[in-house]
Amino acid sequence: MSGYPYPPPGQPSVVIQTPLVVGPDPVRCICPSCGAHILTKMKYEPNTRTHVVALILCLFICWPCVCLPYCMDSCQNANHYCPNCDAFIGTYQS
Ligand SMILES: [Zn+2]
Repeated sequence: MSGYPYPPPGQPSVVIQTPLVVGPDPVRCICPSCGAHILTKMKYEPNTRTHVVALILCLFICWPCVCLPYCMDSCQNANHYCPNCDAFIGTYQS
């Protein structure tokens, strides 16, 4: 018995900010990072569902369809970023 398992080193506590309600379009808001009035800039990134849909298309329909979900915004996360400081603002999942 060498004792109680040592707890993992504490990670710096992350300030939980109320997630901004963001939609599929750029939103006007105040950047929580730099405090500027901004119109968010959008980046679409594939999420887990994108890969799942692609896999299903590949297995059951036909493989050329695999690229479809990656081309459809509705199958991807719409991430909002601050154009000023590039801070992440929020994610919209359709
Ligand atoms: Zn900012």
